[in-house]
Amino acid sequence: MTPPGTDIASIEGYAHITSTNGRPTLLNDIRLDDLPGALTPRPKPVIISRADHPISRAAISGAALKVLYRLKEAGFQSFLVGGSVRDLLLGLTPKDFDVATNARPEDVRRLFRNCRLIGRRFRLAHVIYGDEIIEVATFRAAQAPAETDDEDAREVEEPSSSDHRVSDDSGRILRDNLYGTIDEDVWRRDFGANALYYNIADFSIWDYVGGVADVMRRELRLIGDPQTRYREDPVRLLRAARFAAKLGFTLHPDTLKPIASVAPSLAGVPAARLFDESLKLFLGGHAAASWKSLTEFGLIEQLFPAVAEELSIDPDGPARQLIDLGLANTDARVAMGKSVTPTFLFAVLLYGPIVRLAEERIEQGAPELDALADAFDRVVSEQIRRVAVPKRFTLPLRELYGMQHRFEQHGGRRSVMLLDNPRFRAAYDFFLLRAQAGGADPEVAQWWTEIQELPPEERLAKALAVAPAGEAGAEPGKRRRRRRRRGGGGNRGGAPPETAGPG
Ligand code: ATP
Ligand code: MG
Repeated sequence: MTPPGTDIASIEGYAHITSTNGRPTLLNDIRLDDLPGALTPRPKPVIISRADHPISRAAISGAALKVLYRLKEAGFQSFLVGGSVRDLLLGLTPKDFDVATNARPEDVRRLFRNCRLIGRRFRLAHVIYGDEIIEVATFRAAQAPAETDDEDAREVEEPSSSDHRVSDDSGRILRDNLYGTIDEDVWRRDFGANALYYNIADFSIWDYVGGVADVMRRELRLIGDPQTRYREDPVRLLRAARFAAKLGFTLHPDTLKPIASVAPSLAGVPAARLFDESLKLFLGGHAAASWKSLTEFGLIEQLFPAVAEELSIDPDGPARQLIDLGLANTDARVAMGKSVTPTFLFAVLLYGPIVRLAEERIEQGAPELDALADAFDRVVSEQIRRVAVPKRFTLPLRELYGMQHRFEQHGGRRSVMLLDNPRFRAAYDFFLLRAQAGGADPEVAQWWTEIQELPPEERLAKALAVAPAGEAGAEPGKRRRRRRRRGGGGNRGGAPPETAGPG
């Protein structure tokens, strides 16, 4: 990972880092005390030549290389930037490749037929190769709008509007507030580790902020004043949690310190953007680690207030078990290349608070199914004000929860019908998870596993061998009471969680 024998002191700009023991200082050998505390971009980058870093072109996608080279051949500056450079330094496979250039979006569109422009205020070019998209961003000026505007990902036809330009009487552009140079662009980046530029012209890395050292130390440091950078864009709080989780990086103390005080400003971030960020946190294969980071940073209550409340009432109860198991399960699926859905994720997260609220309604005399439906509506409608989960996920979520009741009332013809429901698989997976978490009867879960394994013509006999509790009304009270106590958010009244587990 670290280029063997790279002597950091020999790299121009790092020369002030001297070794304490007389040996040369290697890239992975740098101590925190040796580096300046605040990450302030230098006017000139430290340039790390190809011989002194491990990034090989073979690790860069063919599509990204095509874009980089064509821009360069047209006379523009052309850099790979952001997470891809960071990941390549770490020896990881980047999720996507972003390109930064001094070419304007219109120039990029002229160079690539397979290109569309997106974004209203700050225009970006997407160059499309099959299902790979290379995002090409023109260097931004210091005054350019913040990152949030990237999220406006609608395709646009018009060339960039001119309201950001200051022209003289003859129309000559005196100043362009939108586009800048690479040494201005570096300021807008969040962490030092994300602010490295790989130059296709000579395969060197340009480092304005000590980002290579940050990567080698596996540390996240916000560029500039952390408090200000979080306030500019509170999503950086979530990005800090995500990179800590995904990369196993720690936060520099200065980057960690303001988090608690800035966290409430996440309330001002559009709920749609928080949905996108939630998916990056939880469906990227590091959900359990993301949950841990978000918990450490006190950010769960910002994203999922009802869940945070449930966990504050019953920190180690069934809701917690369900989340732990559900997130681990999601990570395992990603690792195996299986699909994961926002519906299942939110099913795992919201079940605890919904069950608790439903139980309160039942205690007040509401019928069980009505109570569950009401609780679902209330918890989900509050949740989507924070994190805008689209209807195409909340509608199946409602169905998945609704089917849990029918899983418990197993037996009878309706069970066989349930097997044919298009959402059976997701609902069954969720029921299994609840059983594992102590929220449903494992024997019933086993029954559902077995009936699926039978040939279709033998299923009815198995189903009819069980008294259909729901239909015939046999023992409904007993089943319901048991379910309530074991529900995702149950265990109130001082009962320790273990006693609510299956007998
Ligand atoms: P990932 O591995 O998730 O793709 P990434 O670092 O590439 O991580 P992206 O969201 O793809 O993250 O963004 C690309 C780059 O754009 C980042 O590395 C960073 O330099 C910059 N960036 C993205 N979002 C922000 C933000 N909210 N504030 C500042 N800079 C940002
Ligand atoms: Mg990226």
